[in-house]
Amino acid sequence: MKKYIFLSALLVCSSFLLNAQTLTSENQFARPLSNVLNDIQTRFNVRLKYDIDTVGKVLPYADFRIRPYSVEESLTNVLGYFDYKYVKQGDGSYKLKSFEYPRRIDADGEKMLAYLNTLYSDKETWESRSACLRKEVRQRLGIDTILKQRVSSKPILSKIRKFDGYTVQNIALETLPGLYVCGSIYTPSKKGKHALIICPNGHFGDGRYRKDQQQRMATLARMGAVCVDYDLFGWGESALQVGAASHRSSVAHVMQAVNGLSLLDYMLTRKDIDATRIGANGGSGGGSQVVLLTALDERFTAAAPVVSLASHFDGGCPCESGMPVTLACGGTNNAELMAMFAPRPLLVVSDGKDWTASVPTLEYPYLQRIYGFYNATNKVSNVHLPTEGHDFGPNKRNAVYDFFATAFGLDKKMEDESKVTIEPQSALLCFGANGELLPENAVRSFDVVAAYFDKKLYSQLKSDLGLEKKAAEWVASLNLDNEKDAGFVRTLIYNHLRQVRDWHNEHPYTTVPEGINPFTGNKLSKLDREMIADSAMPKEVHEKLMNGLRRVLTEEQVEQILDKYTVGKVAFTLKGYYAIVPDLTAEEEATILGHLKQAREQAIDYKNMKQISAIFEIYKTKCEQYLNNNGRNWRQLFKDYVNKRNAEKAAGKK
Ligand code: ZN
Repeated sequence: MKKYIFLSALLVCSSFLLNAQTLTSENQFARPLSNVLNDIQTRFNVRLKYDIDTVGKVLPYADFRIRPYSVEESLTNVLGYFDYKYVKQGDGSYKLKSFEYPRRIDADGEKMLAYLNTLYSDKETWESRSACLRKEVRQRLGIDTILKQRVSSKPILSKIRKFDGYTVQNIALETLPGLYVCGSIYTPSKKGKHALIICPNGHFGDGRYRKDQQQRMATLARMGAVCVDYDLFGWGESALQVGAASHRSSVAHVMQAVNGLSLLDYMLTRKDIDATRIGANGGSGGGSQVVLLTALDERFTAAAPVVSLASHFDGGCPCESGMPVTLACGGTNNAELMAMFAPRPLLVVSDGKDWTASVPTLEYPYLQRIYGFYNATNKVSNVHLPTEGHDFGPNKRNAVYDFFATAFGLDKKMEDESKVTIEPQSALLCFGANGELLPENAVRSFDVVAAYFDKKLYSQLKSDLGLEKKAAEWVASLNLDNEKDAGFVRTLIYNHLRQVRDWHNEHPYTTVPEGINPFTGNKLSKLDREMIADSAMPKEVHEKLMNGLRRVLTEEQVEQILDKYTVGKVAFTLKGYYAIVPDLTAEEEATILGHLKQAREQAIDYKNMKQISAIFEIYKTKCEQYLNNNGRNWRQLFKDYVNKRNAEKAAGKK
């Protein structure tokens, strides 16, 4: 079984063979992609950075795709075959990436906006286009069938907490049966009718519980607007119901829109809300939701997407681009969807260090043109912060305060973030730290929600949720005191399990050429080839896990986790040696244990039990060779053991 140790070397050999053969039309002039890319680096004297996998990839007509006068044309021709692309970096190098359907480059955005501008030249032609978009966005999102299945039960409301000029109350609103969206309502202390601002959340760390979010909600409330924020699907308390992995699904795209509209419906039943002043405001992924919510529902009267809006990026998370909304009416983008808000007040906040850097030159002039159809160019504004990056920092919040103060007549004198009380996360929860207050009818599985959608679509996600659960159970068995460490280790293990699975699935045994095992002389078996393919997984995947585990866990805890991966094979195998070698010495035991621990650490990077067993077999062979070299006769010991067992069995039968 030692054969496996050398199998990965075979993989390297196979690419040599491909390279050495004579290139002719019979073999399609095929060359390994990695060699072709190396040639490009040398030939054009450029550096390529890899964000792609070249293992096992072979390019037909390879050298005929090269254009001697252009590195970029050569890269386009070579990479396009594998659906890869390049992105030029600031330092002149090129990053090689997989095709990303929601992300394009500025130049594409410019061309798209120029094309869209040819479709309308006045209010009338624009409104026929926006009517098409309004209809098709709904259809492509598939929201209406879900909205129809909503329940209308009373929300679960917490006690009201009073602060300086505002109050906070948590809300859990049931949308689909047993599925809750949790959030907090920030209300001005002053009596009377208030503006309402729906504040969908983005992907900033700590979600809606973070400090700058509370500052913004509370400050706007102090100024006179009721603000509602709520968890992303699968984030915060939603994770208790559907698991965190479910966030990265097209269901999240739909459900987040359903959540925003359902909260709007509920809030409008409150007597203190002025239905003529309804706002939407959010940053990053929250900005993508602002675009979508306002396209879906015309009750909004002012909107402010922050560090989000662009014509060349739809939002990279499935919660922003999981459903093909931007394919509506022959193709659209977030800039055009936002233009549907004309002539109502709109603020776009952008910065110099993310994809919104193009707003002042591309998206803002485009929006002004549409607003111009209504003689309302003064209603659309852009606050651009060229030296800032992708966050919801003070300058962005100030821009939002100014905008809503003007749009909704809020009280600027009350704008003072120092008066805001930052509450701990626990205060903002509806269902308690561990979900102990979840209602009895609460859904506790993504499957229940997926049943409202196309169930078949979510097999990969269900596998993710299974791995997430596995990681959670393993970490729970350690009984860590520190929840932050526990969360870190859960994520670490979950990511590792996923990478192992994905590598395994993307590199089937057929990617390894058939061949002869040099140690047995037999043809490589399916398992041999499967293990060669899996052994080529980048070493960083393993190192990242081990370094992370060792950083926060004791060595004993690290071993417990590795035992979980390998279902306790070290202890089980060692027990076998005790049984077969009854007088095993302490030194022998230590050596054998050392080998088995090596097997364990190697085995965690393999996906299934057959493979894990095969790794242990390699090291068991080593253990047995060691015993033989140490004056034992393994064959005899094993024979004696089998005889003894058979004798015992026979005695038992009598
Ligand atoms: Zn998302």
